[in-house]
Amino acid sequence: MNQYIKHMKRFFVDAKNILTGNMQITNRLKFTAIIFSVAVVHFFLTIIFGCLHVLPLFIFNICSVAVYLSSFLLIRRDRFLPVYYITYLEIAAHSFVATICLGWQYGFAQYIIAIIPVGYYICYTMNIKRHKMMIATISAFAAVLSFLSCKMLSYIWQPLYVLDSQFWEIALYIFNAICSFLFLIVFSLVFVFEIKIASNQLKHQNAVLEQLASTDPLTGLYNRRSMDIFLSQAMESSSSFTLIMCDIDDFKKINDTYGHDFGDVVLQGIARIVTSQVREQGYVCRWGGEEILILINNASLESVYRLSEDIRRNVASQVFQLASERVYCSLTLGIAAHDKKDTVEETITKADYNLYRGKRSGKNIVIL
Ligand code: GH3
Ligand code: MG
Ligand code: MG
Repeated sequence: MNQYIKHMKRFFVDAKNILTGNMQITNRLKFTAIIFSVAVVHFFLTIIFGCLHVLPLFIFNICSVAVYLSSFLLIRRDRFLPVYYITYLEIAAHSFVATICLGWQYGFAQYIIAIIPVGYYICYTMNIKRHKMMIATISAFAAVLSFLSCKMLSYIWQPLYVLDSQFWEIALYIFNAICSFLFLIVFSLVFVFEIKIASNQLKHQNAVLEQLASTDPLTGLYNRRSMDIFLSQAMESSSSFTLIMCDIDDFKKINDTYGHDFGDVVLQGIARIVTSQVREQGYVCRWGGEEILILINNASLESVYRLSEDIRRNVASQVFQLASERVYCSLTLGIAAHDKKDTVEETITKADYNLYRGKRSGKNIVIL
């Protein structure tokens, strides 16, 4: 009893947290909600059959409520499949007992139809590992069989009770129809809702994977694979493009003097400066160890030169702090405008050659 009360308390606390957006819907909570609502339906049926003096159905529904309430103990242990079987058997048995006692026209067999999508839902979303499809499909066929058997039974069996007023026939039929359809509607909505959540999660994971596959983890710049794609796109388009090959000057000395970790910090800082200067004008890629390749689309050589000078000046004036030491660093940049008759490799070689000329002429310079 104690465990039961604890479970129900937990259910209401979790439901409140979900409504306030502080918690995700768990399988335990979903199952508790399903069984709770089924128990409530049976509770109402118990009252109705008590008022109508249909003793077998009154007793059956009391037992049903007791069975559902005790199945919370199985839910607590995450044993969802037995709970599904219990629910399924109870609904089928209830339809038969109702047909024997009152006949077919009260619509109790409708619950058998409503259980079919629930079976598929449960088998696919709860932690049921094996034979999901088989369990759900066999249950669905068993449901069809139970439904038709009930109907057949009603042809050969005279109901034990005949209710005086037609009101109860209509009222019970409507009650059963509403409950069955509500189950179908709620499960369809839950299905759609969960598919939406799953597809959003997938989209988010794809975006994360895409980001990981296209960027360099240290600097956050595009990696070589991405740059190859941008270069092919630039080659295919009819517009012009220019490449800037940048290389950090005496970077080996920085690593040797201040350590590799500080070298990484410098690399990240320079990547930030270059990205903030280029912004939407083109793509910045970590081409090699300490080499950065910039692709600028549709720009005059003059503006690319000005951009390169800005980058060079910003890097040269940046102070990289290591404890009390102030470290300065510089970049050499080689520019090459793509000539339509060249391959992209030839343009890269030209930019590389200008970079090499810059290194030869004393570094910290832009060569066009
Ligand atoms: P130069 O001015 O001629 O370019 O000289 P340099 O010392 O910059 O060139 P060199 O090619 O001799 O050395 C490049 C160094 O860059 C060597 C390598 O250890 C370092 N390096 C490459 N990738 C990384 C990295 O991810 N992190 C750090 N800290 N160092 C790197
Ligand atoms: Mg270098
Ligand atoms: Mg280099």
